[in-house]
Amino acid sequence: MQGKDSSKKNKAVSRILWIGFMVLILCVTVCVILAIYLQSTFRKQFSDDYYVRHATAAEYLNRMLDRRAAQSKKIAEIVSAAGDEQDLTQRLDRTIGFSEMETVFFVNREYGLYRNAEPAEGLNFEMLLGLLEELNYNENDVYIGHAPAVIRLNAGASVIIATPVRKDGEMTGFVFVPLKLADILDSEVFRYQNQIGDCLIVDKVGEIIATSSAPEVVSHTEETFQLGLLAHSDGGDRSRKAVQELNYNLNKKGSGYINIISEEGYGVQVSYSFLNGTEQLFLVSCCRDNLVDGRLQPLLFGSVLACIFIIVLMLTSLTVVWATAKRTNMTVERLAYEDPVTGGKNLNYFREFALNQMISARETPFVIYRFDIANFRYINESYGHQRADKVLVSCIKSFREVFSEKELCVRMDADQFLALLVNDSLLDKRFDEFTNAVNADARGNNIKFPVRFKCGICQIKKHDHDIDVMIDHANVARKTIGPDNKEMRAFYSESIVDDMRKVSHIENIQQKAMAENEFRVYLQPKWDIKENHITGAEALVRWIRSDGTILKPEQFIPIFENNGFIEQLDFYTLESVCMRMKEMIEEGVEPLPVSVNQSGLLLHSPDYVENVEKLLRTYNVPSGAIELEITEKVFANDREAMIGIIHRLKLLGVRLAMDDFGVGYSSLTLLSDVPFDVIKIDGAFFASSEGNERERMILTSVVKMVKDLGMEIVCEGVESESQVEFLQRIGCNKVQGYYFSRPISEPDFIRRYYKNEKEG
Ligand code: C2E
Ligand code: MG
Ligand code: MG
Repeated sequence: MQGKDSSKKNKAVSRILWIGFMVLILCVTVCVILAIYLQSTFRKQFSDDYYVRHATAAEYLNRMLDRRAAQSKKIAEIVSAAGDEQDLTQRLDRTIGFSEMETVFFVNREYGLYRNAEPAEGLNFEMLLGLLEELNYNENDVYIGHAPAVIRLNAGASVIIATPVRKDGEMTGFVFVPLKLADILDSEVFRYQNQIGDCLIVDKVGEIIATSSAPEVVSHTEETFQLGLLAHSDGGDRSRKAVQELNYNLNKKGSGYINIISEEGYGVQVSYSFLNGTEQLFLVSCCRDNLVDGRLQPLLFGSVLACIFIIVLMLTSLTVVWATAKRTNMTVERLAYEDPVTGGKNLNYFREFALNQMISARETPFVIYRFDIANFRYINESYGHQRADKVLVSCIKSFREVFSEKELCVRMDADQFLALLVNDSLLDKRFDEFTNAVNADARGNNIKFPVRFKCGICQIKKHDHDIDVMIDHANVARKTIGPDNKEMRAFYSESIVDDMRKVSHIENIQQKAMAENEFRVYLQPKWDIKENHITGAEALVRWIRSDGTILKPEQFIPIFENNGFIEQLDFYTLESVCMRMKEMIEEGVEPLPVSVNQSGLLLHSPDYVENVEKLLRTYNVPSGAIELEITEKVFANDREAMIGIIHRLKLLGVRLAMDDFGVGYSSLTLLSDVPFDVIKIDGAFFASSEGNERERMILTSVVKMVKDLGMEIVCEGVESESQVEFLQRIGCNKVQGYYFSRPISEPDFIRRYYKNEKEG
């Protein structure tokens, strides 16, 4: 069963777990965002960096072209002043030394073609002009500055810087230097680009003029570089637009970079720069941006590791928190739902269990038993707490053995138990079985005292779910079982509540009633049937309310015995009797002996004997005038002490009577142990003896026995002449009963028995 409280606790645990889970998700999200951010930042940085390096390489290339052009121009000037062929070759020889060029071609109309200083076969001035024209160089273009012509020479493309040689304003030839672009692209300056991608030179339409030695990023088999790009791309919009942008910018002699997405999904960055000195060529660098990932990997790996570490840490913390919370919950639950003495459940648990059962097993008839162990105090005092606790533990254990899982028994407090039971035809049998099991355990534990349960029972009505009220009802029923009840089970009913209300009303007004003298002493004469005269009286209290209603002792004495008020009342009665005696003695009348009922509680009060003594002395009560009536119940607890009190009372000149002999346990040993003066045989005993021969015989023997023991015998409840005659026959001479008189008020008693006035 999971109760409300435990579900609350579980909610708290799941809240912790939930929060933990959210934090975990947050951590993972942060990690992923961090990774994405790192990647994009890295890509951006790489991209910028790559472009800067590309631009630097392009700048280098431009400067190189500028430098070579300037050197060509110088050579052109030097050779322009040559007079004859010999002079020319000498000048050429000299010029080679100061330039960084390995090869210089010179061609003029007169002498043909020279390679460095050596005449070269196979190419002459006209051929060169034709070639330049073919390449759309008009004379002016070529002659202005150093605009190079592009000529594919043998392996790999070369740029030729052609510089016109003029003499007296007339062009006499060309100095031209070839630059092997493929070699330049493989040079140290382009190492970085070559390592991570390709370098190429394209012309303004995109035709590939030269590439570094091992191009691999973009396919170069297409007609133009752009077509190669497109073939390599994923064909998506973004890539196509980028290629269009490249086309446009090549036409415009612009510089910049584009990014396309490759077929495989990675990005390709293409940086391009117009080479100023060439009028039509571009340096292009391209690389895959997934290279970034390679660089990023250690960083990302580190981040992922950190994330995993954090997550593991979180999971560990969560597990610890969860386990601790669970353990705490279990402890709290144990404290909240367990009874530390029996190890069983407690009232809190019972409430939830009962409610759940009532809801889930609607059709099952349940009852609540609220029970305690009769005289558990005795077990506790006689056998000690530890062994008494074992009886409590045995109650829970035995209950589990006898009853089903639908049923539950919990200890509430001390020896108070509460059980939810299925009200079937075998319930009584099962409860007896349970009682027997507890008793068997107790005997095994050397506890001789029988364990008996006083059970208050409340039937659970359908749709009635107020457990606490039902527990209260069962308790109300339990409280109606008095200490001497033979029946140990009481069912709750509305009349019980009624009675309780009455009890509570009486308790509320008892003190006021005492203060206002509502308690009056009535006297019932005791009659000597041998001599036929009065021999004394018994004082019996009556409660006369202000409205005139008279309450009989059975209506309030048991209540006062329960709440202790009886001590006050008994003493009050005794004092009233003593006071009246004193008055009579003072009036010169010898008072008849009067017996007064004394409750056990009063006798057990610490200064009882002293108080009685004080009273007798105060009112000068003659010895033997007061008789105290006590019942055998008084001896139930601490018999020895009670016998001591009896002896002390007798020393004060008080006579002692045993009241109600013949009902209850009537232990005969009591007669031998306690020096009673009088034994009063209960009227009930007598009434039943009237028609029963065996009981008559017993009564005859009792009378004889009591007399033989030297005690006086008084029969109560004598109502008929035949009873009187029988008692006379068996030698019981003193009687008390309606046959002679009902209890009457003191004034009536005085009038009738002292002043001998007749009833009127
Ligand atoms: P008890 O001491 O045995 O008193 C005798 C009871 O028997 C009285 O009842 C009396 O009225 C009744 N009785 C006498 N003759 C007859 C008869 O012929 N037939 C019948 N049926 N009954 C007869 P009562 O006055 O109602 O008192 C009942 C009990 O209340 C007393 O029994 C006594 O135990 C207790 N009681 C009365 N007054 C006091 C008191 O001041 N203190 C204490 N502690 N108990 C008192
Ligand atoms: Mg009496
Ligand atoms: Mg009596």
